[in-house]
Amino acid sequence: MSSPASTSNADWRARSLAHVWQPCTQMKDHESELPLIPIARAEGVWLEDYEGKRYLDAVSSWWTNLWGHRHPTIVGALKQQLDTLDHVIFAGFTHEPGILLAEQLAARSGLPRCFYTDNGSSAVEAALKMSFHYWQNLGKPNKQRFIALSNSYHGETLGALAVGGPSMYRDSYAPLLLQPIFVPSPDCYTRTPGQSWEDHSRRQFEHLRLVLERHADEVCALILEPLVQCAGGMRMYHPLYLTLARQACDEFGVHLIADEIAVGFGRTGSFFACEQAPPAVYGRGAKRGITPDFMCLSKGLTGGTLPLAAVMTREEIYQAFYADYAAYKAFLHSHSYTGNPLACRAGLASLSLFEETNALSANAVLAQLLWAHTAELRTHRHVAEVRQTGLILAVEMVRNVAKREDFPASERRGLRAYRHALEKGVVLRPLGNVLYLMPPYAISAKDAQKMCEVLCEAVDVATRDPA
Ligand SMILES: *Cc1c(COP(=O)(O)O)cnc(C)c1O
Repeated sequence: MSSPASTSNADWRARSLAHVWQPCTQMKDHESELPLIPIARAEGVWLEDYEGKRYLDAVSSWWTNLWGHRHPTIVGALKQQLDTLDHVIFAGFTHEPGILLAEQLAARSGLPRCFYTDNGSSAVEAALKMSFHYWQNLGKPNKQRFIALSNSYHGETLGALAVGGPSMYRDSYAPLLLQPIFVPSPDCYTRTPGQSWEDHSRRQFEHLRLVLERHADEVCALILEPLVQCAGGMRMYHPLYLTLARQACDEFGVHLIADEIAVGFGRTGSFFACEQAPPAVYGRGAKRGITPDFMCLSKGLTGGTLPLAAVMTREEIYQAFYADYAAYKAFLHSHSYTGNPLACRAGLASLSLFEETNALSANAVLAQLLWAHTAELRTHRHVAEVRQTGLILAVEMVRNVAKREDFPASERRGLRAYRHALEKGVVLRPLGNVLYLMPPYAISAKDAQKMCEVLCEAVDVATRDPA
């Protein structure tokens, strides 16, 4: 039994609302406040509904899309893969796309061991479990806790949710969650006026150092999002924090888990955000970049086409699980779609586009364009800060700039901006009172300019009184 195909937005909207429960949504909003938008097709940076209206995907479909929708290189690779091998159990079996992708991720991350999962949260879960289990296997049973940064976000499953900072995502489930040790974030929005990012992040590190001094014996790992706390409102910090955190984790015998799920794959200007950490000591041969003990990857991993995630880790950690079966040291964790060949093939195609399009250099030019076209926001009377790291540009809307007084959440200023931008054909999904641009790398200069213009308008409309 199948219903006849709908043809209009209204039709699809009604049918969707009858059965589909959307993610991260108060469904009642869709009764009137917010139009649920049925998308019929997509190409490049554009989404199109059933009535031919087009929307510029300024948030890269929740930060997943790197090259625009349906990039021919990825589509071609997927069609070929589909004619060869769709899916196969990944325990006891292995396959070419899974092997090639692991090889390439190892080369790029400096972490030789690749464990696949199928979404970002599950990658975080796997990393947390691996870290804990590593210390068990090493005979350090007291290491059971994690350190996390305030305002962080690592996903929605219970383990990942637990290491995310207190927030509306977390609070409803608080009784169910692990109790990590939270340290204040290096987030530079909270620095004192006149203080540099570097100075602020360095000072915030002292909190981490104190906690490590006191608790290292009971701690498995520190987990953090390198450079940008994305879901936490695109809050940014100085890369020096990564250098200091790496050093301190080494000193105190604690793992460092870098959650590059949102910031990896060129988003912040370097291939991985961890690469921007300055050398601990400048001098001859001093190298930029840190290597974490675990790196979680997802979102942009397949260029935004299929779900896939990976945890990259060090050889020595892998070896702590490697033993005769009867030693019961193996990492007995799995997901049904682990290492899906189609998703891995999309990942390979996406990686090939970095060289082919010279993406990192092109992104640097595009990043400057975004900064230039949003100049007027930097003096806007309701904008406390415009900040940028690579291809993430965020605008903090406040009631009063001098006092840094927030708009009450109940006024839903972000939502007003969202609705205005949609009318103008741009998807600007806000995070509370923060609006941000995180476009696909393939956006043209002309579309980028349009996107910035609509962002500026949306800020005007959203901050105009009365609410
Ligand atoms: C999105 C995100 C996750 C969770 O990934 P899902 O695929 O949505 O489960 C974890 N960490 C960070 C930093 C993210 O941005």
